[in-house]
Amino acid sequence: MDCLNSMAPTDEELISFALDGEALPEEANNHLQQCETCKQRLAAYKQANVYLLSHLYRSQCPSGEQLSLYCADLLPADERMSIASHVKDCPLCATEVEQSRSFLRMDIEIPASSFSLRALLHPIFATRVINAQPQFAVRGDASTATWPRQYKTESVDLSFHLSLTSSGQHMLLGIMTSTDPDGSVDSFEGVPVELYTAPGPLAASGDESAAPPLLRTQGDDLGHIVFKPVPAGQFVIVVYLPNRELVIEDLSIE
Ligand SMILES: [Zn+2]
Ligand SMILES: [Zn+2]
Repeated sequence: MDCLNSMAPTDEELISFALDGEALPEEANNHLQQCETCKQRLAAYKQANVYLLSHLYRSQCPSGEQLSLYCADLLPADERMSIASHVKDCPLCATEVEQSRSFLRMDIEIPASSFSLRALLHPIFATRVINAQPQFAVRGDASTATWPRQYKTESVDLSFHLSLTSSGQHMLLGIMTSTDPDGSVDSFEGVPVELYTAPGPLAASGDESAAPPLLRTQGDDLGHIVFKPVPAGQFVIVVYLPNRELVIEDLSIE
């Protein structure tokens, strides 16, 4: 895209204007006001600027999951410090941290008695992913006792983390990540998620109705879910995505 008018701003002038806000020479500026071609040239540079900025930032950014754990205070000290210093300089992560923190502070549980039971029409069972990395834990039952716990389905990865709230209660933080190449899971915002005492809603058969969930919450736009306070026990979690339900069986909290 080129403008042949002799008054047209040069590429260099337009770039300094779009990227650094440097004023254009007066004639060039006057020309820009009335030339569609030059307006389009400018718009293209501005767009490139936004794209470059977001990519430059994002290439240095911690993953969404790490940021979530950072907000929930679940990271070891060295990782926490490196993320803290990144967040100070990165407006994108700073915004995300702000959102996560306010979500974690919120009390979003809806009393279980205030809604009717749903049927599980297309339950998809999540598979537990046992971390292959060496753990500094005893062998044997270590796999059931360690946190975080990773689960996957064909379209969503889930990780669960257990932490203590300031009042000493257990808080279960879940982070959902879409792995769906078709993008059919584009948002977790507002998705209902329920925590049942095992065996949960699938154990009911025939006319027998299942017990209501113990806790209910919903996902936020970053795929977080929080249950608090969570007692010790065996639980089943159901994520009600549109058209299907993800079922996480046998999540035990000691
Ligand atoms: Zn022009
Ligand atoms: Zn960042």
